[in-house]
Amino acid sequence: MATRDQDRHRRAQMRANGPVESFAMREIGERARWLCGICRDEDRPVDPTRKRPDPLSPSIDHIRPVASGGTHPRSNVQISHWFCNLEKNTGGFSSRSAEYMRAKLARVVDGTPIPEQVWRSQFTHWGPAARVHARAAHRTRRGVR
Ligand SMILES: [Zn+2]
Repeated sequence: MATRDQDRHRRAQMRANGPVESFAMREIGERARWLCGICRDEDRPVDPTRKRPDPLSPSIDHIRPVASGGTHPRSNVQISHWFCNLEKNTGGFSSRSAEYMRAKLARVVDGTPIPEQVWRSQFTHWGPAARVHARAAHRTRRGVR
């Protein structure tokens, strides 16, 4: 349950985001037939009847992040799963594939593990950091800390 302060903060944030929030979610969603612009999972469309934090609930994604000079017009927004949008904004998504995001979403929604080859494919072009990640993941899978 959100506190009153959190609510106030969230509303302030929505105002700060400006025109985006005044776009009808429905319009953005229907334009894409509720296909998430991040994972593009045709079997698992965005569900406008759900509410966040449900992973499949709708969210407006900035195709080009505002922080990187993206602007607010309709051409810069797309419908996305709430989960995918969150992942994109917290996980350094830009180099990750839609395939990986679909796998991640499936894990959250259905509990399906991310296939190893999908997982690995995310790191092939990352060099040494990728190998560190891969080793860490391997240890995690084996239950070693
Ligand atoms: Zn998605």
